[in-house]
Amino acid sequence: MEDSFQHKGLRRKLVEEIRHKGIHDEKVLEAISKVPRHLFMDSSFIKFAYRDQAFPIRAGQTISQPYTVAFQTQLLEVKPMHKVLEVGTGSGYQAAVLAEMGAKVYTIERQKELYLLSQTLLNALNYRIHFFYGDGYQGLPTYGPFDHIIITAAAPVIPDKLLDQLKTGGRLVVPLGGSNSQVMTLIEKQEDKSYKKTEHGLFVFVPMLGGKE
Ligand code: SAM
Repeated sequence: MEDSFQHKGLRRKLVEEIRHKGIHDEKVLEAISKVPRHLFMDSSFIKFAYRDQAFPIRAGQTISQPYTVAFQTQLLEVKPMHKVLEVGTGSGYQAAVLAEMGAKVYTIERQKELYLLSQTLLNALNYRIHFFYGDGYQGLPTYGPFDHIIITAAAPVIPDKLLDQLKTGGRLVVPLGGSNSQVMTLIEKQEDKSYKKTEHGLFVFVPMLGGKE
């Protein structure tokens, strides 16, 4: 589990690349500079870990592109001690970025293999994260409400149960749409319990599926 000077240097370059692409929140950039992405990659792709690209991981899933992770995180406006629910643990990389920002992270994954692998890795890296094996469409009613909710798979609709688990003043970020591409959507729960929706460009994610495997 080595994190060498070379890895750190490559991370600094990656941070400058995503800054250039428009990420401006210094706390997000700092978190990206700290998380050793190479440890979250499948062995065949480790040498590409600091390219700004998504890569395949186990169970036919993907580790998201660092720019996309930073973009979603920036939209959330995470502050230390905020309670954040992530749907789609995958490799665990996004969860680690949120933890680096001081959030209390709750993450759900429907693929048992990924749930187990990410938990082992993040525990070994001393991240304190709450892992759940289950269907993100249900959220975590007994642990909510959450300051923020981030969905890291393409959702055809905004799951009602997740909206219910969002605090007033909270922010939910979701790539919304079908299989070709999705619109990054921010939902803000207002004081009067209404929802404000804004759209933030096109992205491509693997689909959010119901149930668990
Ligand atoms: N956040 C991940 C990371 O940092 O590596 C990348 C997530 S990957 C793009 C999407 C993940 O969402 C996959 O691991 C997939 O199994 C998971 N997923 C899809 N539908 C889900 C659901 N209903 N509940 C929980 N996880 C789900």
